[in-house]
Amino acid sequence: MPGVTAVTRRTVLGGIAAGAAAAAAAAHAVAGPQPLTVRQLSERGWFVGDGGYNNLVLVGDHGLVLCDAPPSYGTRLTAALRQISDLPVTHLLYSHEHVDHIAGAGAITPRPEIIASEATAVQLRRRADPARPVPTRTVRNHEVVTLQGMPVEIVTGPPAHCIDTTYIRVPGEGLLMAVDLIYPGWMPYKNLGDSIDLPGVVEAHETMLAMDWRTLVAGHVDRTGTREDVEVSLELYRDLAESAQRQYAALSFPQYLAATPSPLTSWERHELYETELVKRMVADVRPRWINRLKGVDTYLADNCWAMLETLVVQGAPKFGARR
Ligand SMILES: [Zn+2]
Repeated sequence: MPGVTAVTRRTVLGGIAAGAAAAAAAAHAVAGPQPLTVRQLSERGWFVGDGGYNNLVLVGDHGLVLCDAPPSYGTRLTAALRQISDLPVTHLLYSHEHVDHIAGAGAITPRPEIIASEATAVQLRRRADPARPVPTRTVRNHEVVTLQGMPVEIVTGPPAHCIDTTYIRVPGEGLLMAVDLIYPGWMPYKNLGDSIDLPGVVEAHETMLAMDWRTLVAGHVDRTGTREDVEVSLELYRDLAESAQRQYAALSFPQYLAATPSPLTSWERHELYETELVKRMVADVRPRWINRLKGVDTYLADNCWAMLETLVVQGAPKFGARR
């Protein structure tokens, strides 16, 4: 296979059982019965995906470095890895603590060394979930680790999609893995990827663009991302933020209450107010994106609501702060 240095063939990988991992995946699984997609990205880097989820596999000198282990893969992961190499999985890097990206980890035997950010390790100790084993090695801020002969840069950043952000960069391969921040070619999943800090997500886009890489493994959809995909995603966030500001400026809650007298409770009326804002925002934003991204009509309304809510709770994202 091109680019893969065949080292001693071994009996490898051990069994990756379905069991608990498959059960954990149930809520988010997009998987079908078909084999996982395996695609070579660089000399040592491989994309593995099931159409909905994806991850990165690096072929090292004497072992595989797995970045994330989505539980939706189930037993198909073993077959996918064997298409790449017969080497064992010696290292596993977590992009973040979420079940849907790493809860296949507990089924990998023998247990590899697991590396993650300090904040991810803290969360996983709290979760006490056997499907997501606690990291054996942690990174705070920024570190370049040599894994199976490959330098891998791990950078941690502030809250964005979750409580911190982990960027896994493989400088020699032109690869970056950063998960649940952008959805190449697609409207982001609802509520902007279920992210906890949208100003942080904007900052994460700019952090990615400040790094040197060619190919992004983003964790979702059926392909990798390019730098242009990150730029397009940033443009979407800016459009959403500006539109949300326009909707609030055109119709405040007091104006809405005055214009629509009603016996409903203030709670119910606030819900109707937000529904009206989302409707106006979708009408504003949709024409600019319907032919640029897939899935616009599925998740745009939820994403508009998320941005409207962010402006009230965390304040408007700042664009250009890191560029
Ligand atoms: Zn996530």
